[in-house]
Amino acid sequence: MTRTAYAVIHLKAIRHNVQQARLAAPNSKIMAVIKANAYGHGLLRVAQALNPLVDGFAVARVQEGVCLRKAGFKQRIVVLEGFTELEELQNLLNFDLEVSLHSPHQLEILKHQTESKQLGAWVKIDTGMNRLGFKAHEVNQVFEQLSACNVVKKPLNFMTHFANADDVNDLKTSQQIELFNQLTANYKGEKSMANSAGILAWQDSLTDWVRAGIMLYGISPFADSTGGQLNLQPLMSLYSRLIAVRDVAAGETVGYSGTWTSSSATKLGVVAIGYGDGYPRYAQIGTPVLVNGERVPLVGRVSMDMITVDLGLNSTAKAGDSVTLWGEKLPIEEIAICSNTIPYTLICGITPRVEIVESKHSEALFSS
Ligand SMILES: *Cc1c(COP(=O)(O)O)cnc(C)c1O
Repeated sequence: MTRTAYAVIHLKAIRHNVQQARLAAPNSKIMAVIKANAYGHGLLRVAQALNPLVDGFAVARVQEGVCLRKAGFKQRIVVLEGFTELEELQNLLNFDLEVSLHSPHQLEILKHQTESKQLGAWVKIDTGMNRLGFKAHEVNQVFEQLSACNVVKKPLNFMTHFANADDVNDLKTSQQIELFNQLTANYKGEKSMANSAGILAWQDSLTDWVRAGIMLYGISPFADSTGGQLNLQPLMSLYSRLIAVRDVAAGETVGYSGTWTSSSATKLGVVAIGYGDGYPRYAQIGTPVLVNGERVPLVGRVSMDMITVDLGLNSTAKAGDSVTLWGEKLPIEEIAICSNTIPYTLICGITPRVEIVESKHSEALFSS
């Protein structure tokens, strides 16, 4: 059947991207972050591709970890948000999932456990993100309390998360690194600080484990570069087709609310993709789209099922021709900037209507 909106997942790119992480952090183990359905790429698909290449997985929720175990994955798996309910703790223990511990609420639950199984644990230290984690002055006391909990495996491990690592000039990251090192210097367990931005820009943050997320998907964690510029290869390319080519006279408006008016006669391409597929509703007029490999600007509003592009008066494009929304030859980082968002939200936002096509090869599957 002819495809309309579909995403090609280039699994081969992930091997290359893991290699880049290894080159940047040669002495660290790699925990691949595959939360949120592997950033929209498919949890089990991506876990399968990464399985022989990385040293462990990280997810956000207990349920994501359970899903990996049920599928048979044997790697270490860390649940970054930890648990809130006793039932979640039981699942962590039953499925041998490790956990980040960040709150007194969790310590209270752990204290009352008599379970013989043991929980692999990472004490999360808040070094400046101010989201999850124990404050600097609490760390020693938390360590003492957890040391007395039989249900918690020893030695305890430690992690922190950066707030501003994507800005390579922001000294906050250096301060976070220094504070974390100070607070954990006397403890034996494994340590982990770096996300993708840390791996690529903050040498001092490379400890026992790095937590690679966005870079594994071939995307830059920095606002001012693309994955390609960092020698990463995009894992996802999003495609669709032209479903109509229409003549528009000078002075006509296009789409809802008539936000765009043609300044001269032109040809308008209608593409079968919209916010119902996860294409960003806020993509501005001028956002680049590739039609048959040529850049053309988005014009008018993004609607649920369609967008419109200005093909130019002399275009020979026709219904059925291929359109690239992002991926190979059209960096998603550019689309994110044009949509006033970050690439993370674009890849996570692909909806179930978009057909997923796996490619084990490096070249695109598309033939128009
Ligand atoms: C999501 C997440 C990561 C990965 O971040 P990237 O920017 O995608 O590399 C690492 N650590 C924690 C705690 C996270 O929540």
